[in-house]
Amino acid sequence: MGRHFLQIPGPTNVPDRVLRAIARPTIDHRGPAFAELARELLDRLKPVFGTRHDVVVYPSSGTGAWEAALVNTLSPGERVLAFETGHFSTLWCEMAARLGLVVDLVPGDWRHGADPAAITDLLSADHAAVMVVHNETSTGVRSRIPEIRDAMDATGHPALLLVDTISSLASMEYRHDEWGVDVTVGCSQKGLMLPPGIGFNAVGPKALAHRGRLPRSYWDWDPIIAANRQGFFPYTPPTNLLYGLREALIMLEEEGLPQVFARHERHAEATRRAVRAWGLEVLCADEREHSSSLTALLMPDGHDADAARSLILERYDMSLGTGLGRLAGRVFRIGHLGHFNDLMLAGTLGGVEMGLLAAGVPIKEGGVRAALAYLEETG
Ligand SMILES: *Cc1c(COP(=O)(O)O)cnc(C)c1O
Repeated sequence: MGRHFLQIPGPTNVPDRVLRAIARPTIDHRGPAFAELARELLDRLKPVFGTRHDVVVYPSSGTGAWEAALVNTLSPGERVLAFETGHFSTLWCEMAARLGLVVDLVPGDWRHGADPAAITDLLSADHAAVMVVHNETSTGVRSRIPEIRDAMDATGHPALLLVDTISSLASMEYRHDEWGVDVTVGCSQKGLMLPPGIGFNAVGPKALAHRGRLPRSYWDWDPIIAANRQGFFPYTPPTNLLYGLREALIMLEEEGLPQVFARHERHAEATRRAVRAWGLEVLCADEREHSSSLTALLMPDGHDADAARSLILERYDMSLGTGLGRLAGRVFRIGHLGHFNDLMLAGTLGGVEMGLLAAGVPIKEGGVRAALAYLEETG
């Protein structure tokens, strides 16, 4: 009884308002009512990315939008520079290699973001693009995109900057235009509070002008952008998800993006205070790089993170994020993004504290109290 707690860092809880919007009848995607919806949506999306330029909407997961960013801008055999910040950056690089790109991967310890200082030394004349994951969902570490752009600009290098903001979009401050990003990759099921099924590319003018020769058809920006001008798509769009997207964008406008970001920061800080009060360690090792949308915490040696997660699911009906890749069993992740408030955080941390104690993990009690004290102070 009661609601399931879906506290993984995506998919996130879908607000009832959004579910109701999605439940409306599907309409003719070539009719005038659809054109009105599409034009309104495409405009309303821009502030979320911090752009005045085009946002391309795909019926896809985030992985599809990753592929779109690469095949639209790059050519076979071109070199790209990327940073091993965690599981998702690794997957994106594997995709780039499979598509025929040559990837120079800067190794990382999965506890830090992409290092802006490394750009100056490593960016060479034949790099066509730099790929960075803004918020590495496997680690809860945020990369400092403006500093990366500054480092690229300081070398005077023309490489494109491609950024994955899948788990930071609409949760953490992000400015596509102002930060000089060329392509921003996003998707629906994390901070945007929608079910899975929509991918995005925000496309800057330099990326639109600099088109690569990798084979592409479905992902090609040009026919989509051309059809979008009339309010249509070159294929059948996910009409009902777009109803939901409109509702979610209205909710974000009602709250105001600065307030949305502040809410996420506050819940993230409260979570870190709980983790420290338990005597456990947050995975992110740099104060400047904490994610606001999720927290990954390290289990003490000899304790399996997945055993604790299973117990919490069984006993308290709460889903937490598993450790991915090399972090399997060593960390679990608490999602605190999207449709989320103080009492949902209190419930989430209550479930974690009870679950860790029940699993026999040696923690100090008082994590929940420490988080609540911070919420009270800042409420
Ligand atoms: C979730 C996620 C992805 C993958 O998105 P899918 O919708 O599962 O394809 C990629 N990058 C990051 C940073 C993510 O959080």
